[in-house]
Amino acid sequence: MSPTDAPLLEVSGLVKSFGDNVVLNGVSFAVDPGKVTCLIGPSGSGKTTVLRCLNGLETPDAGVLAFSDGGRYDFSQAPSGRAAKAERAALRDRSAMVFQHHNLFPHLTVIQNVIEGPVRARGIAKDAAVAEAERLLERVGLSQKRDAFPHELSGGQQQRVGIVRALALRPDLLLFDEPTSALDPELVGEVLLVLKELAEEGWTMVIVTHELGFARQVADQVVFFDEGVIVERGHPAEMFAAPQNARTRRFLDRLL
Ligand code: ADP
Repeated sequence: MSPTDAPLLEVSGLVKSFGDNVVLNGVSFAVDPGKVTCLIGPSGSGKTTVLRCLNGLETPDAGVLAFSDGGRYDFSQAPSGRAAKAERAALRDRSAMVFQHHNLFPHLTVIQNVIEGPVRARGIAKDAAVAEAERLLERVGLSQKRDAFPHELSGGQQQRVGIVRALALRPDLLLFDEPTSALDPELVGEVLLVLKELAEEGWTMVIVTHELGFARQVADQVVFFDEGVIVERGHPAEMFAAPQNARTRRFLDRLL
């Protein structure tokens, strides 16, 4: 395998408990560069916790996250304390997460929301951050909302600004936690369209979603979780047409 074929990220043996509740029980999968991975499965199966571990928001109890550029975060060696904190901070710089709720700062305008991360967290000069933010806002059709406050936008527009804010960080990996589940049904389409365009542009994305129609159209890989383990994974065309596992079958039968 040539280096360019290597997965951008390999997740191996991820384990995470909250008290007695084992939420992830040895989760392993690979994320290929420029590809879309959708995490699906019943509520409470551990999907969001995986994203939070990838983004350094949670400290795994065990497991390794290995990036193709050599970055390697081994939580089996450093499950707690200062070393884990440093690993989480380094992980946070590699990815950007879009949450269910956009989490925009209500007292900042759209452009101020977008440049906040690049200027403060990444040390990018303000002029350059503004120019990039303007380019990205135009990209999602929101140039005219540059100086609006979040409350002046629709839910779909707010979520598109949330996506732009993540893009502005220029992450290796874009993480989405049910990005459309808090939206009114008529606003879901405009956000899914932006995600589809980002996929076509070659962003590497991991998306937790209940939108199986979207996953079928856009995902290169679907990973099905149940009770903290990966039950099945594969290309959506194959998995949705002929799931191999009875648990996957039951889940898909209910939703497709
Ligand atoms: P999903 O995204 O598949 O719905 P989650 O990863 O959100 O699943 O949650 C998996 C399990 O972990 C649930 O039982 C949830 O209650 C538990 N959990 C998640 N975060 C925490 C936390 N911070 N403290 C305690 N339990 C948590």
